[in-house]
Amino acid sequence: MKNSRKQILLWLGALLLLAGATHAAPTGVDPADDAMALIRPEALRADIRFLADDLLEGRGTGTRGHLLAAKFVASQFEAMGLEPAGEKGTYFQNVPLRSYRPDEANTTLTLTRGGKPTNLVFRKDYYSLGDPVRAETNVEAPVVYAGFGVTAPEQSYDDYQGIDVKGKIVAVVLQAPNFETSLRAHFSSFEVKEAIAVAHGAIGMIGLADPVGEQVYSFQEQVRDLSFPSLRWLDAHQQPNDYFPELRGTVFLSMDAVEKFFDGSGHTATEVFAASKAGKPLSFPLNMTARIHEVTRLEDTQSPNVAASLPGSDPALRQEYVVYTAHADHLGIGDPVKGDKIYNGALDNASGTACLLEIARAFSRMNPRPRRSILFVAVTGEEAGLLGSDYFARYPTVPKGSMVANVNIDEDLLLWPLQDVVVYGAEHSSLGAVAQQAAGRLHLDISPDPQPEQVVFIRSDHYSFVKQGIPAIFTEAGVKSSDPAINAKEREAAWEKNIYHQPQDDMNQPFDFESGAKFARFNFLCGYLIAQAAERPAWNSGDYFGEHYGKKKGAQ
Ligand SMILES: [Zn+2]
Repeated sequence: MKNSRKQILLWLGALLLLAGATHAAPTGVDPADDAMALIRPEALRADIRFLADDLLEGRGTGTRGHLLAAKFVASQFEAMGLEPAGEKGTYFQNVPLRSYRPDEANTTLTLTRGGKPTNLVFRKDYYSLGDPVRAETNVEAPVVYAGFGVTAPEQSYDDYQGIDVKGKIVAVVLQAPNFETSLRAHFSSFEVKEAIAVAHGAIGMIGLADPVGEQVYSFQEQVRDLSFPSLRWLDAHQQPNDYFPELRGTVFLSMDAVEKFFDGSGHTATEVFAASKAGKPLSFPLNMTARIHEVTRLEDTQSPNVAASLPGSDPALRQEYVVYTAHADHLGIGDPVKGDKIYNGALDNASGTACLLEIARAFSRMNPRPRRSILFVAVTGEEAGLLGSDYFARYPTVPKGSMVANVNIDEDLLLWPLQDVVVYGAEHSSLGAVAQQAAGRLHLDISPDPQPEQVVFIRSDHYSFVKQGIPAIFTEAGVKSSDPAINAKEREAAWEKNIYHQPQDDMNQPFDFESGAKFARFNFLCGYLIAQAAERPAWNSGDYFGEHYGKKKGAQ
């Protein structure tokens, strides 16, 4: 934690210097000011009201409700005079998907210690999401506990040091070491842990609940979300994304099951959690074998991304694109909560989609147009694992190297008068300076990540662009309120606890649309400044994500 704070202070210092330099430019004649004035609170209200209507049934990926939302967005793009930027001259890019659900009655998990087998109970002790390719898989092997399951040589960190997991099942805590906030988020991602486990020769995985994770996304909530099918996108060979055939079984244990899991291992769960909280968990063989038998129901489906472009005005720079994203999908229809089963997703993410539309409208009326071209993409499948954005970032409808930056909008938390923003990803590239400049112009503060344990950096669509080497930022409202009578921090915490991913995220909330418009203007300005700059954005030198993804893909 110390390290990350120091880094934030360092880059904030650098940004202040840069912001000081750019503030010398004359203001008041910038066409961006006129464009921003076109972003209206009433328009946001209208778009959110339509997208969050019960008629759209929560916009679940692959459902008719989401398709209605996608067509609505496309027709708005068309009305603005934006060019289709999907496939075959349309506004749509089809994303082929595999939907999969565990067959709970036929899936089993048996742990055997000292010759004594214990059968665990689905939903109570554990759950499995199923396998996106095989209708039936089996694995039986010794279990080794590998802490966070992280091997990160650049950070001189290795949970696999001193243990051998070849041909074994690896158990990991679903958290990450106390690296800098984005890096910590990156290494808490389960697909990253899977890739590392496979590289070490593992053949199965057991994800362990822990006290930190329970606060963020509890086992109970994970079990509740089994009512929504899991999804992956499919490539041209029908292979799902981030699939590791080497892993022949993966299950996730509840807190209660984890307590018993460590019985007789020489370490208690309490010891294990204390060590992981201190930043360096123990790693040791568990004196036990596990047998995982997964049965999965598979189904193929599809869902569209919606894409439109505004050609830039500069003959050279118009070959490059600033990409705005907002996910139009939400969870759909699920288990009822307080008598309501439609998960409307008004803030998550009808609000961001509405911002995307108003930002597009503002850009579309600019004269002169921005120098670079702007791409607006209402992605699908975000809630199912950033699928639409990942597909678009990998298989863009424009030349891959032409996307210079991504600005992502997810959850415009218009619940109090906006005073500050948190800009995830800012510390990794020159986009940090852009955000600082935009914030200064709109009299907004930029605040550091208030809750690193929420691992927000990997939880929305900008991360898909980061993984393709494209500098990206994702902005959220901070927790300051410009009205002293409203405690934004409390309101945000209550929203996370009672509304987030519940059917109650609907229009019956105390929305401040003026605040929402301010947030949209901030995002507009970030994209505009990127579009106008002489140089395309660049990763900071030596940055982890720039080194790992930026160079590999030749995006820079
Ligand atoms: Zn969400």
